[in-house]
Amino acid sequence: MTARVRLDHVAVAVCDLKRALETFQALGLRCEAVEDVPSEHVRTAFLSAGEVAVELLQPTSDLSTVARFLASRGEGVHHVALRIPDLRAALEAAAAAGLSVVPPGPRPGARGRRVAFLHPKDTFGVLVELVEAPEGR
Ligand code: ZN
Repeated sequence: MTARVRLDHVAVAVCDLKRALETFQALGLRCEAVEDVPSEHVRTAFLSAGEVAVELLQPTSDLSTVARFLASRGEGVHHVALRIPDLRAALEAAAAAGLSVVPPGPRPGARGRRVAFLHPKDTFGVLVELVEAPEGR
């Protein structure tokens, strides 16, 4: 991984996005965008919390891995996302470190960004999302 890695967001899986939005907005966070991500079968909301965001995830289909997560573990922290400038380089570094990418390769994520997920078995039980974003964004 490069030295320019930063924490991008912490994602929370929820059953009721509207109710979760109201709760986090009551804490002073501002909703920046609500978006469907068809590739992941989820509706997401990003709430600004300074340099880092909170992402709320509600499944839109039983095909969603978030639906399976909710069924087996209930609501709670779903993944931690790292902002990296070059996804291809980050995936090469992850492969060199023996980390599994699930499913393999980059995929379209929220906010028009390319993302990839590292299997939690390799990252101490935490699903890690890599989010490609140019510097300064
Ligand atoms: Zn995310």
